Amino acid sequence: MNRREIDARMRAMMARVGLREQMINRYPHEFSGGQCQRIDIARALIVEPKLVICDEPVSALDVSIQAQIVNLLKSLQKEMKLALIFIAHDLAVVRYISDRVMVMYLGRVMELADKHALYDAPRHPYTRALLSAVLVPDPAIERGKVVQILSGDIPSPIDPSSGCVFHTRCPMAQARCAHEVPALRALGPDSSAARLFA
Ligand code: SF4
Repeated sequence: MNRREIDARMRAMMARVGLREQMINRYPHEFSGGQCQRIDIARALIVEPKLVICDEPVSALDVSIQAQIVNLLKSLQKEMKLALIFIAHDLAVVRYISDRVMVMYLGRVMELADKHALYDAPRHPYTRALLSAVLVPDPAIERGKVVQILSGDIPSPIDPSSGCVFHTRCPMAQARCAHEVPALRALGPDSSAARLFA
């Protein structure tokens, strides 16, 4: 591409992510946090990828800006037919943006399922504990909710304990969990799976 084509492509991409063309010569410190995320999205998408890995893309933003960025990613995903891997700790955001969800603990997959199946009927004890802590926007439900607090020590990620990596905190742990690693078992025709003993 020549200089003029590159410039045109950049301006078009800026407009696509919601940035005004006049911002093209601004210095980095002149952008807000949300605008910086838009720039990052533009930089990732300008090469027209098929897959984008978004690692905690909204965790540093306030809630209203988070919603704008997540909605932007959703619309770009549809428009550009993108596959997104969205890595986050906020399970409400994950539920909103995802089709399928993989829950990981210390680098191991604990459960993988369609988002409705996972949020409505989690199979793994770690997923159940995580979901019990998600805020429900209904005071009546929230007051009666039982949050499952996980006790026990978190092993070092660089030196995880033997057996199931979750066994030091799992409320369902048995003696075998300390030395046997459960397989990731398929649970149904929808390619859902969980790391559980049979
Ligand atoms: S294998 Fe054992 S420790 Fe691990 S999740 Fe299952 S019951 Fe809990």
